[in-house]
Amino acid sequence: MGVKKKIKGQLIVLSGPSGVGKSTVIAELMGQRDNIYFSVSYTTRQPRVGEQDGVNYNFVDRAEFERMIADNELLEYAEYVNNYYGTSLKAIRDQLDAGHDVLLDIEVQGAAKVRERCPDALFIFIIPPSFEELSRRLHGRNTDSEDVIAGRLEKARIEFREIPKYDYLVINDKVSNAVGEIEAIMTAAECRVDNR
Ligand code: 5GP
Repeated sequence: MGVKKKIKGQLIVLSGPSGVGKSTVIAELMGQRDNIYFSVSYTTRQPRVGEQDGVNYNFVDRAEFERMIADNELLEYAEYVNNYYGTSLKAIRDQLDAGHDVLLDIEVQGAAKVRERCPDALFIFIIPPSFEELSRRLHGRNTDSEDVIAGRLEKARIEFREIPKYDYLVINDKVSNAVGEIEAIMTAAECRVDNR
């Protein structure tokens, strides 16, 4: 027939302010879909209580992170509230080549770099129902100091200005709704005719 659907895995970039509930949404999404791989980022920040090395993040020191930058091992990286965060190029390339979808949970500067290097990726921004709710969730998490929370709220205001660069906006008022919307976006992307 001369037409084809996409067969390679889809790269999905999820951004949204710290505290919006991305990790919960991602955990739920991973449980509901097959053939989906979460890209475990590298970071120089300290693990929070309950976080596991290799599961939530690969925790490394600044020297190791700077070596990865120098050796071009990262698809993208950014500094966020005084720490480095970055995505391993090899890990996601292997997964995409195997036909798996790959989910990146990254902030807006990193997303901008992915947009340059992988323009076919799906870019989704998750927002809270309100700014007050975001502040309430960050305080409720009980893991960060007031200074860190203030830094994250300030960062959120700056990040919101980037929303027009994303393809989709999802409001995380209720996790199941947000997950349902992301699934719908991914399903629509799978059904696209590969005409590029
Ligand atoms: P947190 O410290 O709350 O886990 O993450 C802080 C921010 O860093 C979040 O907005 C998260 O999306 C972002 N982030 C996590 N991993 C990466 C990464 O590999 N690259 C970039 N650019 N941002 C990341």
